Amino acid sequence: MLFNLYKNTFKNGIHPPENKDVTKDLPIRQFPFSPVMIIPMSQHIGSPAEIVVREGQEVERGQLLAKASSYVSVPIHSPVSGTVRKISMVPTISGTKIEGIHLEAFPYSGQEVSEGKPIHPETATADEILKGIQDCGIVGLGGAAFPTHVKLKVPEGKRCDYLIINGIECEPYLTTDHRVMLEQATDIFLGIRYLMKATGAKQTIIGIEANKQDAADHLERLKPYDIPVTIKVVPVKYPQGSEKMLITAILGKEVPSGGLPIDVNVVTVNVATTAEIGRLLPHGRGIQERVITIAGPAIKKPGNYLIPIGTPLRFVLDFVGIQDDIAEVYMGGPMMGISVSNLDISITKGTSGILVFGNKDLRKEDKIYPCIKCGACVDACPISLNPSKLGILAKFESYDKMVEDFHLMDCFECGSCSYVCPSHIPLVQYFRLSKARYKRRQTLSQNLNHA
Ligand code: SF4
Ligand code: SF4
Repeated sequence: MLFNLYKNTFKNGIHPPENKDVTKDLPIRQFPFSPVMIIPMSQHIGSPAEIVVREGQEVERGQLLAKASSYVSVPIHSPVSGTVRKISMVPTISGTKIEGIHLEAFPYSGQEVSEGKPIHPETATADEILKGIQDCGIVGLGGAAFPTHVKLKVPEGKRCDYLIINGIECEPYLTTDHRVMLEQATDIFLGIRYLMKATGAKQTIIGIEANKQDAADHLERLKPYDIPVTIKVVPVKYPQGSEKMLITAILGKEVPSGGLPIDVNVVTVNVATTAEIGRLLPHGRGIQERVITIAGPAIKKPGNYLIPIGTPLRFVLDFVGIQDDIAEVYMGGPMMGISVSNLDISITKGTSGILVFGNKDLRKEDKIYPCIKCGACVDACPISLNPSKLGILAKFESYDKMVEDFHLMDCFECGSCSYVCPSHIPLVQYFRLSKARYKRRQTLSQNLNHA
């Protein structure tokens, strides 16, 4: 009854074509091991992990390869049994290089994983659970890759009333969370037990969009009787998977500008992350693989695959098959994902999807027209920014004004404004660039002041 009080959605937003039909009914399949895994040491927001193995060393699947280097960092575990062939700089999706490990898999390597120290939800303290989550190397699997133990730590003086499990998956094409909800319900509910203890939440709500009603029904059927969990189905709208939008849709609360969910007594966790916590913590195992949707018109064998972390993208595309005239490969969804410029990068903990498009599949937007002040971008922005005005200011490099008067830093780069713009103005790209330049200017002026 509580939920009838709320509107069950947030203001504005858009409805891009969902394109989920091809993979939503395909069960998760195990991916083969690549002969060589390439494992970058930075797969999350925060400081890179610190390598603890040496070249020539043999390692087992699940063994620690690198330890967390600080509180905002997580360890990395071996995705396969094999030999550390090389430690060198490896390419990343951002175009930069970072220290990484080349791991040669033993031929016919099995799936067995070495066990660590188990953590039990009933007997472990909240801090022991947080430590266990860090030790398992868990980061947000929805794409943000923020270390989960940091996100779960409720600051002194705050409290968590609601734990919201994010099963929205509003990005077109992606169906990983959908499949995880259908296939890993036991892990999800066990994960919720850990999360409720870690955060002190008294109530859990699993948010699911109406295009995944089968997952909502399945979880409702398997819901344990002894934990307070509600499953809430909300209307389909992009970008509802953003945690601030989800909190508004589910609870009718608005996270203040510059604030965090805990400012309105909420912690949100992605549903696949929750399942991994339920799967790994009872064994104290590190994360070695993740579910990834591979889709797009230029893919021959689309599906949801369980892929070892460190698998080279080139190996993945060879296995699933691609058409000859590929134009774009995205890591993540088409709205917030990143276009890949180098196929030698590898799968990381934050990879939720791989999308491949041919030349004929992409909307041609070579020509950018002037703003016609139609207001479509303003109507689309879910946090009521003025993208049109921000776009004009970006052209004049008025970054201070963009931040101070038009709240640029609140923009979470959902891309809704660019999507609806009839003049094809790449607004979200302007905003990304403006934020980076603003931050650089700030750092420069701070350095000058300290000189
Ligand atoms: S990208 Fe930023 S400005 Fe554009 S709609 Fe999303 S939040 Fe608003
Ligand atoms: S949608 Fe594009 S053309 Fe319309 S007001 Fe916004 S920036 Fe201008």
